[in-house]
Amino acid sequence: MHTDTTIRPTDAGFDPSGSGPASMAAVVDAAIASGRATFSFEFFPPKTDEGEQHLWRAIRELEPLRPSFVSVTYGAGGSTRDRTVRITERIASETTLTPVAHLTCVGASVAELRTVIGQYVDAGVRTVLALRGDPPAGPGTPWIQHPDGLAHADELVRLLGSLGDFSIGVAAFPEGHPESVDLEQDAQVLAGKQEAGARFAITQFFFEASHYFDLIERAERVGCTMPIIPGIMPLTDIRQVRRFAELSGADFPQDFAERVRAVADDADAVRAVGMEAASRLCQELLDGGAPGLHFYTLNRSTATREIYADLGLADR
Ligand code: FAD
Repeated sequence: MHTDTTIRPTDAGFDPSGSGPASMAAVVDAAIASGRATFSFEFFPPKTDEGEQHLWRAIRELEPLRPSFVSVTYGAGGSTRDRTVRITERIASETTLTPVAHLTCVGASVAELRTVIGQYVDAGVRTVLALRGDPPAGPGTPWIQHPDGLAHADELVRLLGSLGDFSIGVAAFPEGHPESVDLEQDAQVLAGKQEAGARFAITQFFFEASHYFDLIERAERVGCTMPIIPGIMPLTDIRQVRRFAELSGADFPQDFAERVRAVADDADAVRAVGMEAASRLCQELLDGGAPGLHFYTLNRSTATREIYADLGLADR
């Protein structure tokens, strides 16, 4: 149990021997800096014990794919947050995988954020995805900052930087964050996060490769040069497709929606259309120079494993 919230830089620093938990940040940094594409998987903390069993099955099934890192999202409330920390700790101690911990500013004072960062450090986690988080009442409602907390992700990046040598990632939005004034301001915010100390970014999911490449151009124009890893959400069933087409706000390709609609009653055919679209998107992104792929797994392994097989990534 972590009790001292002062994290000494040496605790979180690079371990030149290359062994022990301190080398974890170096593992992610080295993977990202290697110039070779990184492949990573994202999980979320399930609400039930049964959900957690599913998660662990997925983790074990994905482990042989040797991802560059895996990440665990940070929940909105107390008990899911505890699960995030516990799952991240278990990945660090019981698997061969390198965990990246998500952390948000939602409903937390700086003192509380330092405590969670301390728990991650105790678990040997040195790479953190620093996020503001969605407004406590849900996306689309006003953002309310904790009275003793932080307003934006760049402040969390700075807080982490002041506490140790973390490898820090941040969020990026190919179609712009919904609260951003416009796409140019959105790119400025990303550049600001790099200036604050972020070393890489992972994007929100999107379904058209052009949105990703446009983001890269905008970011480069304002001096943002850190690797921006595209987030991939394979859609495999009709409910998902409907939900994302109607609710996600992401630009949903009409031809894809029509192909899915044409086979809507045939679950296998919908899945095949969804998987083909996801594989094509991944290939376009890699061909266009994306520094990696980050899969939103939804705690399942099958779609990610199929895309791996499709793209011949298992032999990389
Ligand atoms: P910020 O970078 O703070 O941006 C939020 C808004 O404020 C933007 O509109 C931006 O333009 C504006 N802004 C930012 N900085 C400034 C500034 N200095 N001055 C003025 N305006 C500014 N949510 C979770 O709750 N848990 C998770 O684990 C999680 N994981 C995610 C992983 C990825 C890869 C992504 C893409 C998102 C994730 N999210 C998660 C969702 C994310 O927290 C929300 O989208 C949130 O609304 C924005 O977070 P941010 O870190 O981009 O915030």
